[in-house]
Amino acid sequence: MLTFVFRMFSLGSACLPAEGMEAIPRQLAAALPSDSIRLGTRVVRVEPGAVTLATGEKVSAKYVVVAVEGRMAAELLGDTISPAGHGTTCFYFSASRSPINQPLLVLNGDGRGPINNLCVPTFAAPSYGPADRSLVSVTVLGTANDPDQLLADVRAQLGEWFGAVVQDWRHLRTYSIPYALPAQHPPALNVPERTVFWQPGIYVCGDHRDNASIHGAMVSGRRAADAILKELT
Ligand SMILES: Cc1cc2nc3c(=O)[nH]c(=O)nc-3n(C[C@H](O)[C@H](O)[C@H](O)COP(=O)(O)OP(=O)(O)OC[C@H]3O[C@@H](n4cnc5c(N)ncnc54)[C@H](O)[C@@H]3O)c2cc1C
Repeated sequence: MLTFVFRMFSLGSACLPAEGMEAIPRQLAAALPSDSIRLGTRVVRVEPGAVTLATGEKVSAKYVVVAVEGRMAAELLGDTISPAGHGTTCFYFSASRSPINQPLLVLNGDGRGPINNLCVPTFAAPSYGPADRSLVSVTVLGTANDPDQLLADVRAQLGEWFGAVVQDWRHLRTYSIPYALPAQHPPALNVPERTVFWQPGIYVCGDHRDNASIHGAMVSGRRAADAILKELT
């Protein structure tokens, strides 16, 4: 994963869609017929040629592609897919001035304290905040039983890093995400491309089928699509 991330940072620039991350699925969906996607519709069972929705309705299709996160894929397809994942907690602050003067990803080099990394997304995407404020994004690995205490610990560490100015930062939101990424401990990525074929009529894709990233999710989706197209022709 480290090699992959370093390769990506070396070959291109880090970027954020001006209209937010949701712009990525919106762009993909825009090419499809408008009635081909049903949002807010939970699948509870998968079988060759059909899925069953939480409402009990059965939807038939020649192929089923299970494109859910690893934990849910394990629930729908069986636990030869690992349900293990990592959680994260994201804190967002509004600051009158950015604590750094370049669009950098700040890593915790202290080796202690709750913060894993920090960035100022408004450097990359000014549309993420008003012109006179900076959006500061702080990432902590794992989720906490006591988010208020974690926020206090984060603020204390930010104070150590950037000084008293941090006291004026306005806390905007905290997002606690129990399953942020699939667990991919070595040697999980020795062969990053995992099979997307599940059984005749069923394919599976997502970041748990490749390296845990948007890239991994998309290339595994393409592998599933290519395999189905090949079967169809
Ligand atoms: C805070 C955070 C920051 C991140 N930052 C980056 C980054 O900068 N760069 C990067 O490359 N990656 C990043 N990632 C990782 C990236 O978001 C994931 O790797 C990627 O979204 C995985 O895509 P996916 O399609 O496999 O799964 P998901 O994006 O999780 O999509 C799965 C979809 O399936 C739906 N679903 C689940 N169960 C069911 C069901 N039973 N029925 C119907 N639908 C269901 C879900 O609602 C969801 O919409 C980040 C992740 C987090 C949490």
